[in-house]
Amino acid sequence: MKVIETIVEMNRLRLKLAEPVGFVPTMGYLHDGHLALVNQARSENSTVVVSIFVNPTQFGPTEDFKSYPRDIKRDLAMLEKAKTDIVFMPSAAEMYPPRFSSWVDVEKITEQLEGAVRPGHFRGVATVVAKLFNIVRPARAYFGQKDAQQMTVIKKMVTDLNMNLEVVACPTVREPDGLAMSSRNTYLKPEERKAAAVLYQSLKLAQQLWSQGEKDAEKIRRQVMELIQKQPLARIEYVSIADNETLEELDVVKPPALVSLVVKIGKPRLIDNVVLE
Ligand code: AMP
Repeated sequence: MKVIETIVEMNRLRLKLAEPVGFVPTMGYLHDGHLALVNQARSENSTVVVSIFVNPTQFGPTEDFKSYPRDIKRDLAMLEKAKTDIVFMPSAAEMYPPRFSSWVDVEKITEQLEGAVRPGHFRGVATVVAKLFNIVRPARAYFGQKDAQQMTVIKKMVTDLNMNLEVVACPTVREPDGLAMSSRNTYLKPEERKAAAVLYQSLKLAQQLWSQGEKDAEKIRRQVMELIQKQPLARIEYVSIADNETLEELDVVKPPALVSLVVKIGKPRLIDNVVLE
């Protein structure tokens, strides 16, 4: 496994890689959710490139950029074990040199959900992913369904800007109690960690109501919120049932619909979703 820190070095190495190249962008502090993406990339490509970059431009001024968990040594050991070929881990100065001034702005679908509460977040995400795609030039790039809106935004960017690669969506990997794996779960104190199971319980409730024939989105939203509110440590930021493509809120559930929610428990904002098919 080669560890590369500069774009010049990555460009040089890129010429020699066996095609096709599969790419997994991450912010590090890896868990089994990330490794599932790496494993899928490994099974479908001759070369696997993983990036580790905590991207400053996707964090708001009051968000956790500085305190975002980092453990490069552990990450590299995990990636080596998963048979990664190349780890690209540039510095912020390498990705954003002085006078950097070009941005990728995906409109409309970034106005709802995470985009509505984290202004500028998807501009930072789309820009860094576009840069990474240009540097790594993969045939396939792997993203988790856990960040459903992010995946929709990346797919839209790839289509709109004619980027010549396939975006592969990978299912959310969960803990035994259903909590979606996340680097930010480490912020949870033991009591909060137990309480966090309510996110997936509430998404399962939405799925159950839908499969029993409930089509009134507001009724499902309300029941999901009532279940979460029974957990005293949980503070709801939003519960959404939206069209899975446009991300516009629905009155009547029409599949495929994205049920997504953000709940604060202790320090972290926990995000999760299911798709009603
Ligand atoms: P992050 O390091 O949080 O930016 O995540 C890097 C990639 O891993 C993104 O495509 C995420 O959607 C994906 N990912 C994070 N957590 C999970 C999970 N629990 N299951 C599947 N994919 C995940």
